[in-house]
Amino acid sequence: MKEPTLGNPQETIAVLQKYNFAFQKKFGQNFLIDPRVLEKIIKAAEITEDDCVLEIGPGIGTMTQHLACAAKKVIAVEIDRALIPILQDTLSGWDNVKIINEDVMKVDLAKLAEEENGGKPLKVVANLPYYITTPIIMGLFENHVPLKSITVMVQKEVADRMQVGPGTKDYGALSLAVQYYAKPYIVANVPPNCFMPRPKVGSAVIRLERYEEPPVKVKDEKLMFRIIRASFNQRRKTLANGLKNSAELDFTKEEIAAAIAGIGKEPGVRGETLTLEEFARLADELSRD
Ligand code: SAM
Repeated sequence: MKEPTLGNPQETIAVLQKYNFAFQKKFGQNFLIDPRVLEKIIKAAEITEDDCVLEIGPGIGTMTQHLACAAKKVIAVEIDRALIPILQDTLSGWDNVKIINEDVMKVDLAKLAEEENGGKPLKVVANLPYYITTPIIMGLFENHVPLKSITVMVQKEVADRMQVGPGTKDYGALSLAVQYYAKPYIVANVPPNCFMPRPKVGSAVIRLERYEEPPVKVKDEKLMFRIIRASFNQRRKTLANGLKNSAELDFTKEEIAAAIAGIGKEPGVRGETLTLEEFARLADELSRD
């Protein structure tokens, strides 16, 4: 097996020039060109030779080479057709990489895990396209794709939102959803000059360690997430008004007031002050079975 060749600006430029590659803004293409950051991601992902890794958006295959050296198998899903011949070239030294030319949002990833890893949990490692970070991560969790962990580069602000608790301005539906499924931990902050082209925003590597059992128990998970979304849709409103005005919920004013009192909160409480555990209790109060 070969040593990785990619990971610095010179090699990336050489590959881009060889193929006359034109960056596509619509695909969120910012390629990683800093070997130290690459090393941090690989280390944080704790890849072993028993692991099957799913990489979303391999680009020209920089991280893929490093992953292929560490893992049993790498499945790389890339939307941009123009990158496929490049990937076939840069990954030609590894026989444990499968390249799939698809929009990851259209791939049945649970089925893929079944076919490629016998249904055993995958590790997801990626420098994600920022325009679809949240749908990708929520899709992985909500579709019950078997996972051990997700180690990804995301926009700094999004990483912050994933790991904060109540009482901070970044706390919201994403924080609660991520923290219901996984334990978040920010591995490193990454400045724009580690990418080509440079993004306008700062980035961070975050690791999400999937819980085997969610940290709170709730009768109706879907109802809890509808309540959470409703609570943060209108941030400046009270929790009661947020729930009453939601198109996803149909509780009466009285039912809502009783449920809020039932979890020991004041009628004028705001959703952003509730913990995950309190949202679970509120959902149980409002659950009709
Ligand atoms: N992994 C490479 C790196 O670190 O240099 C590239 C990262 S770049 C931020 C995001 C990659 O995701 C690009 O290669 C882009 O074409 C790809 N991508 C964007 N949208 C995608 C989608 N819906 N499905 C699969 N890949 C996608």
